[in-house]
Amino acid sequence: MSLSNDDENKCFGVTFRTPPENSTGIPHILEHSVLCGSRKYPIKEPFVELIKGSLNTFLNAMTYPDRTCYPVASCNLQDFKNLVDVYLDAVFHPNCMTNEKTFLQEGWHYELDDKDAEMTFKGVVFNEMKGVYSSPDSVLATACQQALFPDNTYGVDSGGDPRVIPDLSFQEFQEFHGKFYHPSNARMWFYGDDDVSDRLKLLNDFLDEFDKKDVDSSIATQPFFTEPRRVVKSYIAGEGEEQQKSFVQVNWLLNDGPFDVETGLAVGFLDNLLLGSPAAPLRMALEESGLGEAIVGWGLEDELRQPTFAIGLKGVAKEDVPKVEALIEATIAKIAEEGFTREAIDSSVNTIEFSMRENNTGRFPRGLSLMLRSLSAWLYEKDPFQPLRFEGPLADLKAKMAAGDVFKPLLKKLLIDNAHKVTVELNPDATLASKQEADEKTRIAEYRAGLSPEDIERVVAETEELKTLQETPDSPEATACVPTLEIGDIPKTSKAIPSETSSIGETTVLTHDLFTNDILYAEHLMDLHAVPMDLMPLVPLWCRAMQRMGTNKRDFVEFDQTMGAQTGGFSLSPFTSSMRGSDDVAAYLMLRGKCTSAQSGMMHDLMTEMLLDAKLTDRDVFKQLVNESRTGMESRVQAGGHSVAAGRLDAQDSVAGYVSEQLGGLAQLEYLRALAKRVDSDWDSVVADLEKIRAAVVQRAGSVTNLTADANTLDRVNASVTGFLDALPATGVGSATEPWSPSLVLSPVNELITVPTQVGYVGKAANLYKAGYDLHGSAYVVNKLLGTTWLWDRVRVVGGAYGGFSDFDSHSGMFTYLSYRDPNLMKTVENYDGTVDYLKSLEIGGDELTKAIIGTMGDIDAYQLPDAKRYTSLMRHLLKVSDEERQERREQILSTSQKDFRAFGEALEATRAPGAKVCAVVSPEAAEKAVKERPDLDFKVTSVM
Ligand SMILES: [Zn+2]
Repeated sequence: MSLSNDDENKCFGVTFRTPPENSTGIPHILEHSVLCGSRKYPIKEPFVELIKGSLNTFLNAMTYPDRTCYPVASCNLQDFKNLVDVYLDAVFHPNCMTNEKTFLQEGWHYELDDKDAEMTFKGVVFNEMKGVYSSPDSVLATACQQALFPDNTYGVDSGGDPRVIPDLSFQEFQEFHGKFYHPSNARMWFYGDDDVSDRLKLLNDFLDEFDKKDVDSSIATQPFFTEPRRVVKSYIAGEGEEQQKSFVQVNWLLNDGPFDVETGLAVGFLDNLLLGSPAAPLRMALEESGLGEAIVGWGLEDELRQPTFAIGLKGVAKEDVPKVEALIEATIAKIAEEGFTREAIDSSVNTIEFSMRENNTGRFPRGLSLMLRSLSAWLYEKDPFQPLRFEGPLADLKAKMAAGDVFKPLLKKLLIDNAHKVTVELNPDATLASKQEADEKTRIAEYRAGLSPEDIERVVAETEELKTLQETPDSPEATACVPTLEIGDIPKTSKAIPSETSSIGETTVLTHDLFTNDILYAEHLMDLHAVPMDLMPLVPLWCRAMQRMGTNKRDFVEFDQTMGAQTGGFSLSPFTSSMRGSDDVAAYLMLRGKCTSAQSGMMHDLMTEMLLDAKLTDRDVFKQLVNESRTGMESRVQAGGHSVAAGRLDAQDSVAGYVSEQLGGLAQLEYLRALAKRVDSDWDSVVADLEKIRAAVVQRAGSVTNLTADANTLDRVNASVTGFLDALPATGVGSATEPWSPSLVLSPVNELITVPTQVGYVGKAANLYKAGYDLHGSAYVVNKLLGTTWLWDRVRVVGGAYGGFSDFDSHSGMFTYLSYRDPNLMKTVENYDGTVDYLKSLEIGGDELTKAIIGTMGDIDAYQLPDAKRYTSLMRHLLKVSDEERQERREQILSTSQKDFRAFGEALEATRAPGAKVCAVVSPEAAEKAVKERPDLDFKVTSVM
């Protein structure tokens, strides 16, 4: 497919159909491995060289249950061509087909450091998937897919089951590539403003040496069941009382192939009507039932060959599982009987049409988003253009919707009279983690028992050999094969985001004149300092409650449907950040909304109504929100522990870090657990606190408004914005006025947070500003380089973690090392500490340095849609980052030299001084081991689950 238009964010992708036959994870391991060196680029990881030194706006690879996608995007033409060339060479001529070491590193291998040491399994994908299998949500998703498709390729796990991955041989791995990675099985995609004939020339260089070949990669149809089924499984749980809850999800197979466009659109509307907003009837029935803590499944899934629908709850008491199933069935039957109201349908239609008009694909380039949409038909031998041409079918569907009820018959056919229905129940098992660990140990012990002393020597030698190879970087001459741009290709000054500052009354108003297709983006910020500190942890819940209980003028369903039908939606959330060179904290309550210019009056009326008149008295709804938030935080600790660890370290460093942890870190989780009890025992005091927050924070004093649209639209919406601001009280009641005390900061301690998991998250941090470092642009270059060299090599490649990187917060001065799905703990900390010596002895010159600078500029100048631009500009205003300062930083980045790496190495001494602290989210066993090994660190162990 070759799409030509004026989008400068050019996109290319090559996709192979790669249906696996078992759960050894071949497609996933192959996805990792082909990016580890190829014929034209014979170095360890060309992919990493591209991350280091390219202006890409997207660079990744994705394994699906039936395909593997390799997409790239860039706004710079030469850069784009480089990316395409490296990717095509990688998929068609990867070195991993002859070099078994890549397979051992990315897939799995036996690791043995010396003949008396413990033998283990290692491998990047192996540990990545251990992390996935430690997350109950992922276990549920996999179990449901497999239960729906027991007879075709979707019945196995393309990502790899850690218990099965070690069954995979190198030969099977080679055969899989030989079979599927052929042009005859490839679908290639070009999109953007580049020259169309150049695309073909580029492809021709690769395709010329292949002949057409018959590749059988077809995806078999899953035949329909004749009666519903049931599957019961277990997941890794902790021992806490709250963890003893079940998951239940009901799943349907909807069709024997992809829907035609019109049916697909109709089912999309149906999905939105059932679940798309908190007022949607199926969602509301489940959320308000009190039977569970949060929804799972979330409806329609139409990316695979046969679309499915799923819905359920998590956090369900075992004895309530049948009640959940009965409720789902009864609710669907009731909706099929009564149909949807006019208001509900209007709301869905506006919501979907608004998102089409906005075409906001977030961090995904628009070209990539279109490619994925096209593949939903293309991959299954249908017309690839069809999913892109939805205007006609949409008009037809709307005509039918106006003429009669489209949804009742659809609901009956797809969800009521459909025997292909599987209920999956997932129950907690506190012994599962240790059982799996023991099975793995037994398996390794049996293997080891069969080895002769010579064999053992060989495994030790191979372990050593692999490590040496991994620790030896490519020479600069070798990495020079990956093409890069010149510093001269980078603009000397950054593209400005248009921005003007004015005021309306007490409110500072920022406006950005940008083309937005008649959409107004509006942020209204109120000063969070007004909230008394003891109420701060309640703020996130207050934000959710404000939108979930209706107002004094209309009930919740009516409020939500009016918002859906007459605006692009709005939401409320807190925001905090440190500010460089100041003890002040930027802290705001942020009301973010979008609408067409004609809808601005309505949107602002609804915003006023919510802020001033929202009801906060519905105890059942509030209890549900508390449970949902608690469950969400628990999943985050288990599946994204690195951010939790980083938040904890920040809370030991600054007031901004402390407040942020209260709002969204471990402190928030502890608060939510206590709050759930208080809702039962003392609801009146909770309501009183919620009202205190509103009285204190809703005020014009210290407020900021940020508006983005083209100049005409901005003119048209002026009156409604002024009206909104005028309606707010000039000053709050009971607002806190004292500055936040530095004594809030947590006392420094090394901390281990324990959860049931097979892999962990390790953090270590220090504040460089406090250690005397002054910000210089080169810090960005060094930090970027560490994540693609030292930390990548040591923590990921050698250590076997899924990820390892560092983060430098230029506002607070915190430098934080973090790892992700990491089998190690103290070994990772040692690698962090080794960073200083690495930088001090680093010889970097010529190409390597140029790449590091260009890669950094790629991040700084990242392509942004208007929605992202307006947010960036707002942040610069709030955090007082001036254009002059940014220009100075830019010049420092562009002129970064060898001596800057040494200087930053000196600054990083602070991160291995005794004042630097460790915080890790790990299993109880890993924590116990670290406490024994390192009594000097005086670890505080906090059990969370
Ligand atoms: Zn992966």
